[in-house]
Amino acid sequence: MKKSALDKWICDQENIPYLTGDILDDLQLTKLNALLAKEKRRGGFYADLPEYLTSLKELESLPFTTAEDLAENTAALLLGSQSEVSRVISGVTSGTTGPSKRIFYSDGDLANTVTFFAAGISEMTAAGETVLITMPFSVSGGLGELIARAVELLGAKPIRAGSDLSYAELNEIMRLERPDSYIGMPVPLLSLLRFCGNSSTLKRALVSADVCPVSVRREIEGLLGSRLFPHYGLRECCLGGAVTCQAHAGMHVRENHIIAEIIEKNGKPVRNGDYGELVITTVGMEIMPLIRYRTGDRACILAEPCPCGAVSARIEVEGRLDDNLRMSDIDEALFDIKELVDVKAGFAGNVLELKACVLGNVQIEEEIQKRVSPLLSDNKLKISTQICEGSCKSLYSGKRMIG
Ligand SMILES: [Zn+2]
Repeated sequence: MKKSALDKWICDQENIPYLTGDILDDLQLTKLNALLAKEKRRGGFYADLPEYLTSLKELESLPFTTAEDLAENTAALLLGSQSEVSRVISGVTSGTTGPSKRIFYSDGDLANTVTFFAAGISEMTAAGETVLITMPFSVSGGLGELIARAVELLGAKPIRAGSDLSYAELNEIMRLERPDSYIGMPVPLLSLLRFCGNSSTLKRALVSADVCPVSVRREIEGLLGSRLFPHYGLRECCLGGAVTCQAHAGMHVRENHIIAEIIEKNGKPVRNGDYGELVITTVGMEIMPLIRYRTGDRACILAEPCPCGAVSARIEVEGRLDDNLRMSDIDEALFDIKELVDVKAGFAGNVLELKACVLGNVQIEEEIQKRVSPLLSDNKLKISTQICEGSCKSLYSGKRMIG
């Protein structure tokens, strides 16, 4: 089996001949200490932290950074001047009412993400192939464009389809361009594969930017006839965080730039192999490095070495830590109904309204009712269905959330 391309990428980035666990630990500690010293000198958000740690273990004694910290202390968190900022991403911290947080990237941060993406995509795409990209292309330097640049670096051809085309338009691209692989969010891929049926030319896929429930993964893999390559990224680490190798057993972390920890609710670290909240220290981000940032994502660091032989640690990510009903719970419950193309959910008072887009004139309301009702406590359920036509498109253009 081919070793994860990520180890080689780390070696190339750091100019070292090979990687071992000790070398990675030293690299992370050196970068962390350089960051702490810089923070002390400039008197910013992390100025009160110690200037030097003797081991990575001591990181566990430092305080956490939260999404609210990001929203309230943007200027103090910026390591460098505004003139070095190439891109800003703004977004609310939770739901639609949280304070707005802004994340800054330098040219170097964006360039690193592009080569990281290229390493991840190289696990499934070779030079000369064609890659359909359905991530948003709304802004220059946005996720879709960074992925397209990474595909070009590999000598492959990106198709910048974006996240707003109808199924008929995507099907036409499939007919004309015959893409070999797909990069986009997971549910829109399943929707597309179900709509296109045998006319799909896709053989492999990398999914990211949203939760991939187990049922969605299983259905996609059945239709593609190959294993998925999930990727994990978030804005706080310049959109690229961890990517799957050919062993398909967890995602290798970009460990020269990110120190990953998993904690319990009380903030204590868990053992490798146990699930908890993913916390990241982004020692490799140039303009806005974060120390012990609580991602709000439920994840684990796998305890065993990867069968591919790579050294970089692997994580599994399950989705958001949330005690309330999540869209991914509804997706998990529904997407092994083969006729379902897409579903959207929103609350109107205490009624959960589900709008389903289905293949042909089939009756699946009863089946949906049976599967979703156990997820609800006091809420009522109202289901409407529409037949999927070529003019239909994904019911969500971004992350899937209950409205
Ligand atoms: Zn591996």
